Amino acid sequence: MTLKSPRPSVKQGVRQTIALLLCLPLLHGSAIALDLKGALKDAIKAKTGVATPAETPTSPSNDTAAAPSAQDKLAAIHWKNPSQEEEIMVGRQVTGSILGAAPLVKDAGLQQYVNQVGRWVASQSERADLPWRFGVIDSSDINAFAAPGGYVLLTRGLYQRLTSEAQLAGVLGHEIAHVVQKHQLKVMQKQALLDAGSSFVKEKLGKNALTQRAVSTGAEISARNLDKSAEYEADSMGTVLAARAGYDAYGLAEVLQTLASAKPQDSQMALLFQTHPHPDDRLAQLSLMSGEQMDTVSGGKTLESRLYPLK
Ligand SMILES: [Zn+2]
Repeated sequence: MTLKSPRPSVKQGVRQTIALLLCLPLLHGSAIALDLKGALKDAIKAKTGVATPAETPTSPSNDTAAAPSAQDKLAAIHWKNPSQEEEIMVGRQVTGSILGAAPLVKDAGLQQYVNQVGRWVASQSERADLPWRFGVIDSSDINAFAAPGGYVLLTRGLYQRLTSEAQLAGVLGHEIAHVVQKHQLKVMQKQALLDAGSSFVKEKLGKNALTQRAVSTGAEISARNLDKSAEYEADSMGTVLAARAGYDAYGLAEVLQTLASAKPQDSQMALLFQTHPHPDDRLAQLSLMSGEQMDTVSGGKTLESRLYPLK
């Protein structure tokens, strides 16, 4: 399918957003140098072969069956202030629930490719140290998910609508931003703390059930709704991360435009439209967050030919 290039106003707005956000030291430490020229090529080259299919997310049911201590650890999570290790544990559990419903596409090359792109974009974030895992799940719906601790999944249906690596980077950047900002984790914490305060859950179901309820909340919100402001924040931060990684900055905006032009009766889109603000609103918001900053980002790569072809 062919893509219309973004409308000039959107394009300019996005460009301004990036110019503004790249200036904010708040988002990223100065340790991450802004290199939009040769960095992408070098880093991808350096990372080639790092990701293996074995490193993609796997169902945790195997772990938990083999190691009962994992269950105990899960039950003992400090929901008020979870450690990074606990956050990762929760994310693995949530990801397992999603993979239980839709397994990974059986194409090791595809999974490796998505991990390479995702890890490179994630390395531009302030949580580069997380053990990032990316995967494409076998579903014709158009959607993407993030779970705490660095787990990111997108559907085959969404992947098939992408036409360049920059677009993939934009989509992954959006999900990476959710993890960096702990959007899902915060909702899960709220649920767990609410449950902890309820004597029914505490006395009748015990600590283990408390974690299980939080995890199922996590799976639900990974697949469903965060509030609009979290989505807009993920759009702008994701766009910045992709641009920092050296990609054309309009990747995510292009995907949103493709989605915006989809027919409302398109059943593949139903869930996305239910759970996210309309792509038109997301595009408008993305260009709104611009301020008076002028164009400083150009020369990002689109890399159409490098997008891994899905069989
Ligand atoms: Zn989102």
